[in-house]
Amino acid sequence: MKYTGSCHCGKIAFEVEGEIKGAMACNCSICSRKGSLLWFVPRTQFRLLTSEQDLATYTFNKHVIKHHFCTTCNMHPFAKSVDPKGQPTATINIRCLQGIDLDTVPVKHFDKQSK
Ligand SMILES: [Zn+2]
Repeated sequence: MKYTGSCHCGKIAFEVEGEIKGAMACNCSICSRKGSLLWFVPRTQFRLLTSEQDLATYTFNKHVIKHHFCTTCNMHPFAKSVDPKGQPTATINIRCLQGIDLDTVPVKHFDKQSK
C-alpha cells in the first residue's frame, strides 16, 4: 500500500509504502504536545516529493531524532531517525496521511514507566 502525506499547506509532501498495522501515541515531551500518531517504517520505504531545503528541523534531548516541520504551516508530518539496530527509519505522523481512516488504526500507548 502506498500512501501520500503532506503538511497542511503542501510545501512538504511525501510518499510512504507499507502496511499500517498500528500507530504509537508517544508520550514524550514533544509528541504529547503535538498529538502525533506515529508509524515507523524503514527509510527505504519513504520518499520525499518536495525539496529537502523546505524541511525545517528540530532536535532535542540526545538529538538523534530529526523532527521535520514546515515553516509556513508548522505541521510536523514526519521525523527521521535510526533504529536500535542502526537502520535508518522514517517516523510518519499518520494524521498527515491522505485517505486513511484513523478510527481503524489500533493505537498503542507508551506506559508511564517507559521513558
Ligand atoms: Zn506547510
